[in-house]
Amino acid sequence: MDHFDIEYGQKLNDFEIPRVYMLVFEFLTMLTHLSYAVFFFCNSVTFMGFFNIFSVVFYTYGIVAVARGTKSEPLIKAALVEIVAHATVATLFMGWDYGFQMYLICMVAVPFMFSLRQKFDSFALSIAIIAIYFTLRIACVYLGFTIGDRKIHSLDKLWFITNGVLSMVILVLIVLVFRAKVSWINHNLELQNVALKETASLDALTGLFNRRAMGGYLDRIVQSGLPYIAALLDIDFFKKVNDTYGHAAGDIVLADISALLLKEVPAEGYVCRWGGEEILMIVPDMSLKQGKELAERLRVMISQLEFDGGGSTYGVTVTIGVSEKTSAEQTSDAVIKIADDRLYKGKSMGRNMVVSE
Ligand code: GH3
Ligand code: MG
Ligand code: MG
Repeated sequence: MDHFDIEYGQKLNDFEIPRVYMLVFEFLTMLTHLSYAVFFFCNSVTFMGFFNIFSVVFYTYGIVAVARGTKSEPLIKAALVEIVAHATVATLFMGWDYGFQMYLICMVAVPFMFSLRQKFDSFALSIAIIAIYFTLRIACVYLGFTIGDRKIHSLDKLWFITNGVLSMVILVLIVLVFRAKVSWINHNLELQNVALKETASLDALTGLFNRRAMGGYLDRIVQSGLPYIAALLDIDFFKKVNDTYGHAAGDIVLADISALLLKEVPAEGYVCRWGGEEILMIVPDMSLKQGKELAERLRVMISQLEFDGGGSTYGVTVTIGVSEKTSAEQTSDAVIKIADDRLYKGKSMGRNMVVSE
């Protein structure tokens, strides 16, 4: 028998884009800028050529950063700044017809991808990108403002299509990242639910199931129709342990006995803290004779445990009442009641024994 621990409160903002995706992203953007640079230089638009060389260096550094283990969030933030700056300069330089402004549209949702210090920051950043877009529209189209003299005449239409397609691909990628983040959060919540359910059914001191959890287990075992044995254990003269060595020492005795039971009771069995220092064990598919043997083995093992009494050691004994389900109609309450009666029979007969009849 073993219980598992799951860490709770995993930070739901710790989402990381897998490194391989970040590498592909950095590499492809680097290649795109490289081909843009070549194209601009070939058409003698040197300013934009150099701007793209800067971007190539920027994303090459991104590749190195990913390889070195930099987290995805700062890299996305950096890429956001680069894309907004690049789209703005390229639109001013080349004019509206080349479609560089479309990259601004697909960046509008990116500030919501990561947790900025305040929610307001994401909105502010997003609104700033929208404002840049419309300012460019006014400047380039209505006021006819451009820097440079747009020397590219060949393949002009292809520029618009290429930038349009690339922007849309980026948009889809951004949506995919949002979707991955949602499934990641759901998965973590599910794990936390399992962990919380587990804790809600465990007793904090002993790590045994609590009485409520045992209720559920008994319902299941009754439904299964399997035969089972019930063994009810009570520590002998436990009050004396508390009185002599203190309540904390009593807690250690209880915890150590519980740990032993968790280890020794067969895996299909169920051990629960039934009351203060009463422990109920249910083991399915076991005869009364086998149950008695198991209880006897446990009794001996517990009597051999040694506890620190401050300078000396001391031991404790337990009394165990064992019963079995004898008919299909018998309720689990009735089976446990018989084990309880046998436990108190053992107490009255002098304790430190197993009673099964
Ligand atoms: P016996 O069962 O042999 O008749 O004697 P006992 O001294 O064990 O008797 P009883 O069952 O009446 O006393 C149980 C004591 O267990 C009383 C209570 O203070 C103590 N106890 C119950 N739960 C805990 C616990 O979580 N920690 C500690 N330290 N003591 C506990
Ligand atoms: Mg007792
Ligand atoms: Mg008791």
